[in-house]
Amino acid sequence: MARPANKIINAKLVLLGDMGTGKTSMVLRFVKGQFYDNQEPTVGAAFFTQILSLAEATVKFDIWDTAGQERYHSLAPMYYRGAAAAVVVYDISSMDTFLRAKKWVQELQRQGNQNLVMALVGNKLDLDPKREVQNEDAEQFAQENGMFYLETSAKTAQNINDLFFEIAKRLARAL
Ligand code: GDP
Ligand code: MG
Repeated sequence: MARPANKIINAKLVLLGDMGTGKTSMVLRFVKGQFYDNQEPTVGAAFFTQILSLAEATVKFDIWDTAGQERYHSLAPMYYRGAAAAVVVYDISSMDTFLRAKKWVQELQRQGNQNLVMALVGNKLDLDPKREVQNEDAEQFAQENGMFYLETSAKTAQNINDLFFEIAKRLARAL
């Protein structure tokens, strides 16, 4: 017998975090499997889609990447509106970006979406020798704020797919 068609979830996912932390690179790695050492800050489409199939559901992500608006340290309300998942990104080799990530989390929480699946991501894991942000500190901050925490590298692709699969699983579970 044919397997019953599983649920399809349409999920808007928004990326937050300071400029230069690797948000666009993470999306391009996930969607196209590519990485650019000289990723231009504002170049490229700010909207991507990708489909992930899980056993329990098929998740169609509409990924909203900023086109450089994050330089003003705030994003338009329409950016967050209707989001099912949010990924706050910092760079593990820059304490400044982690401190700013905390501000981004605050801004996110002001949006007041209780069911939002939230991830805190320390990107540029390949720069571990230059690490400024300790794993435990980020982990603790994530826990205090109801987020899950992961470290990734868009450059080497480490944990990039895992990040989106984990979000998809949590979205499927929330249904
Ligand atoms: P955004 O401003 O947050 O979208 O960041 P970008 O994706 O434009 O990346 C900023 C810079 O960091 C670019 O030069 C990227 O090549 C670089 N970059 C992004 N991700 C990584 C990573 O995982 N490791 C390293 N070493 N560099 C990265
Ligand atoms: Mg970008």
